[in-house]
Amino acid sequence: MNTHVSSFMGIMPDTPRVKLAKRCRYPAMNEWAESVLSVRKRTFGYPCNQNIELEKFYEWYFANNLESVCINNVGDPCAVVSVIPSTHAFECDVLNFFAPLFGFDIEDMWGMVTCSGTDSNNTGIYFGNNYLSRLTGQRPICYVSDEAHYSNVRLAHLQNLDTRVIKTDSHGMMLPDELEKQLDTTRPCLMVYAMGSTFKGAIDDMPVLNAVLARYPQMPVYRHVDAALFGGYLPFTVHRDLLDRTKIPYESIAVSGHKFFGVDEPSGFFLTTRSIYDSQSQHKVPYLNAEMRMINCSRPYLGALKLWWMIHEVGYDRWYEQASGILEHTEYMAHRLDEIDYPHFVNRYSNTVVFRRPSDTIVQKYALACGYDKRFGGALSHGVVMQHVDKAFIDRFVEDLQNQ
Ligand SMILES: *Cc1c(COP(=O)(O)O)cnc(C)c1O
Repeated sequence: MNTHVSSFMGIMPDTPRVKLAKRCRYPAMNEWAESVLSVRKRTFGYPCNQNIELEKFYEWYFANNLESVCINNVGDPCAVVSVIPSTHAFECDVLNFFAPLFGFDIEDMWGMVTCSGTDSNNTGIYFGNNYLSRLTGQRPICYVSDEAHYSNVRLAHLQNLDTRVIKTDSHGMMLPDELEKQLDTTRPCLMVYAMGSTFKGAIDDMPVLNAVLARYPQMPVYRHVDAALFGGYLPFTVHRDLLDRTKIPYESIAVSGHKFFGVDEPSGFFLTTRSIYDSQSQHKVPYLNAEMRMINCSRPYLGALKLWWMIHEVGYDRWYEQASGILEHTEYMAHRLDEIDYPHFVNRYSNTVVFRRPSDTIVQKYALACGYDKRFGGALSHGVVMQHVDKAFIDRFVEDLQNQ
């Protein structure tokens, strides 16, 4: 797939200089290391895959003394021939792997590996605003649901966009009637769809909401999908069409790398079409010898390299298995809660189980996320069923609930 690995390794010294030492001379760091290792496999409230498969990656990395090189993915991964060390070639491969899963044509796509889902949302909102403003000479209004991830409203404010927060139903889906009531059809529409609302795990019904927008053909529209969590596993399930833009159209999408894919630090990717990218305001930056249309100058390089590694080490088939496992275990959890009559609900396609808030001890032990909704009796918590949450994990958790 890629020929850059060999040239990368050619410049490396033969003997690794790094010797592994378990303890360093700073007690605070040693204590911290112990504590993160001890909570790792119990985390349930936040959607991180804790079955990380990077051991051999780090062995290779340190064996080649790559920790001694300053590397930076500054610039457009799809265009720049970087003069400083970068992982652009790997980044490009990563985008070419993911793009078709979302219905992007790799000949007509633009994207980048980002710092996080939030960073990807920022780019989506920025590109949407630029696209609509340049097309119409008018600034758009940003529409987003009140259950969508908070970053979207924050970023819309940051970009000084008029924002309308749309009400949701009790399970967290944007209400089409509320959207229609709030629409100002004299201004362009920058729509942000929650492909997985943060707390309840609801998916905005894009076909229905798109149909609302289509009733106003004179209103220019850009649709960004915030699929930070669900955009990881859904493409590897029978429900993949939900994110396939050839079936349900949208302009750009944000996905996190540290959620489903198990990158061990914040990362993500962003995908859009080539024509959306080409519509952005141009910023020729002579000192970089590049056309800079994205926001960040320096960009992390490790996320792209780790995703590339995982595409090869884990790959489509095992991700498919893991995604099915996640949905099966979610169902198992709901079934176990039914058995003990513990109030809960799970949205369709979701791996987020919402339930009555348990004791503080349990909340802390499992790092549960908490919320409140009086329509469901008040205090709530949720657990997100990721790869490390297997049946044994769920059984232990349910036992703790029973004994609280
Ligand atoms: C996690 C999440 C985010 C934030 O992504 P980060 O990668 O943590 O910045 C945004 N939207 C949704 C739907 C999420 O699940």
